[in-house]
This record gives sequence, C-alpha cells and structure tokens, in this order.
Amino acid sequence: MSEDTLFPPGRLAIAQSRCAQAGLDALLVTPGPDLRYLTGYEATPLERLTCLVLPREADPVLVVPELEAPAARAAPVGGWPVEVRTWQETEDPYTLVASLVPADAGRVGLDDRMWAAKAMGLRHAMPGVAQELAGPVLHPMRMHKTPAEIAELARAAEAIDRVHAQMSQWLRPGRTERQVGHDIAEAILAQGHVRVDFVIVGSGPNGASPHHELSDRVIAPGDPVVVDIGGTTLGGYASDCTRTYVAGAGAPAEFRALYRVLLQAQRAACELAGPGVTAEQVDAAARSVITQAGYGAFFVHRTGHGIGLETHEEPYIVAGSHRVLAPGMAFSVEPGIYLPGRYGARIEDILVVTGTGAERLNVRPRELAVLEA
Ligand code: ZN
Ligand code: ZN
Ligand code: ZN
Repeated sequence: MSEDTLFPPGRLAIAQSRCAQAGLDALLVTPGPDLRYLTGYEATPLERLTCLVLPREADPVLVVPELEAPAARAAPVGGWPVEVRTWQETEDPYTLVASLVPADAGRVGLDDRMWAAKAMGLRHAMPGVAQELAGPVLHPMRMHKTPAEIAELARAAEAIDRVHAQMSQWLRPGRTERQVGHDIAEAILAQGHVRVDFVIVGSGPNGASPHHELSDRVIAPGDPVVVDIGGTTLGGYASDCTRTYVAGAGAPAEFRALYRVLLQAQRAACELAGPGVTAEQVDAAARSVITQAGYGAFFVHRTGHGIGLETHEEPYIVAGSHRVLAPGMAFSVEPGIYLPGRYGARIEDILVVTGTGAERLNVRPRELAVLEA
C-alpha cells in the first residue's frame, strides 16, 4: 500500500477548516501521532523543535531543524505542496514558528503530546496568544478510520495473532516470565511489526496486576498466565491482543469458573458493539455479566480503548461515555477479572465498527487454552 493511501494529503485542509470552526487561529503540531497522522512524517521527538504550523487559512509550513530536513522530505509530506522551512543551530525556532502564526492570532491549539518545554517555549515567543489543546480538533478525525487505516489495523491484528498462535512453544512451567517474554518480543518483530510496544506475561498472582510486564518469577504447573502483547507496523498502526493461558494441566476449579464468566462477558460486549450504540453501553454489556457473577469489584478497569497510531486513543469504552459508535471506529474489548494474590484473566480483541455491527480483527480462539508441557 502506498503511503499516500494511508496518509492522504487532504487531511491538512480538513484540519484547517476544523481549526477555524473551533475558533483557533492555528494548530501547532510537534513530533508524535498527530504529526504522523497529518503528514505521514514519523519524526523523532527530540529537544530541537520540529513543528507543523497549520494556520486556519494560510498555507501550512513544516518547521524542522536543518539536519532533520532530509528525513522530513522523505516522508509523504515531502511530496506535497507544503513548505519545509529549516532552521540552523544558532537560530531561535520558537521565534520562527511565532512568525508563521497569523499576526492577529488570539488562540492556538497545541498537540496533546507536546513536551512542556516546547509549550513553554511557544508561550514565551507568543506571550499574548492563548494556548489550548489541539486534541478536540484532531482526535475526532483520527477516531474515524479510513478503509486504508482499517486494512493496516487488520494487518497488525493478523501479525499479533500469529504470535499468540506460537505460544505453546514458549510458555510452559519451569520458565520465567522474562524468558517467555523475550521469545514473544522476537516473534512480534518477526511477524510483521517494526516495534515491540509491550509484552505482559502475568503468571499466577502477577496476573492480578493488569499492567504487570515481566518478572523473574518461574511459571508453575497449573498457573493461569495473562499474555497481553502489542507492536507497531511499518505503517505506524498498533496491535494489542490478550489471551489467557494455563501453563500445564491443573488450573484451579474456581479459575475455570471465573474464566467462563469472563468469556461470556467479552462475547456480550462484542455482540452489542455496533453503530448507534454508545461506548458506555458496550462497557455495561461486559460489566453486568461480571457483576452478576459476583466479580464486579475485581474488574478494575474500563472495557476498552480506541486504537490506531496510538495503542490508547479515542474512543474509550468506559462508563459515563455517551459517545455514539459509528462505522470506522476501532477499539479494544478487554474485560478482565483480577483476584489479588491469586491470579487474573483477561480476553482482548480489537473491533472495527461496520455498517451493521462490529468485526473482530483478532480471531484466535478465546476459550481457556491449556498449554500442555
Ligand atoms: Zn492496558
Ligand atoms: Zn492489551
Ligand atoms: Zn488494550
């Protein structure tokens, strides 16, 4: 797929009109997912200022340090009619950016991930200009995926599914979480990602900590093990998938019962998800099953999060969110039950909302997988 399909040039004009509608005079976007989304440029976030200046009407300008110019010009934006303005080591890039913002500007939007040092630098260069977040302008755009973005998310999901498919080679009693995690990380790269984003191997009691990563704990026979893994594709899109395994025979009977509840909860949320349904309704579909079974207090996080150029982005699938799901939105459904000191379980798939429901991009079996040693 050509990069212009994944990062179409037309987004800049759409962002400009939304910027104007929001009453902002310019958007200032530094390296991160918003810059990648708007320009295709994956700039390294460093101390030197790189900043896309997107005025509400005038032509956009990409300000980059001289030494970064070849990389910027090699990105999709380098082939568009967008000026790349370089600055030398002894120049003040904040003054340069200020000179590109409309002279009568009263409010600018800064990308949500901008370093505080850069936000302060811009404040000092434009003391009379109010700073707000660009997220409310840009994130609704990012939340509605194009067919090319969905195809890339599907490729990411297939890649991480291929890693889960090999789990029996690595996950067995007598090995440490770290050893298993090392093998998983290699496979994440081998199976179609350019970056390992995270590897969670939560065995036994460690599984009760949802974001436990790796430790030197030796996996014991019959341990439930939560494996939540993700990486980023060459196109910049993230995978994120959890399966819960049992290492060898002998999982506790209560764990099996708990897992049946979890499986039912995850299925209920996936079946409910679709256009016109709110995020909180999807959360409630999973949560009510778990609560009715008596485990409500042990489901300690929201049901899911959007995914795209970031692993966690809008829409968040959480109680209190009245966001109405629409075709093209992509998010995780990942209920979990965590019993402190004992074990945990989570099942996670990425879903994309279609015209009639939601399609699961991850398709590995969800039943409790007992990996015989
Ligand atoms: Zn998480
Ligand atoms: Zn996950
Ligand atoms: Zn997730």
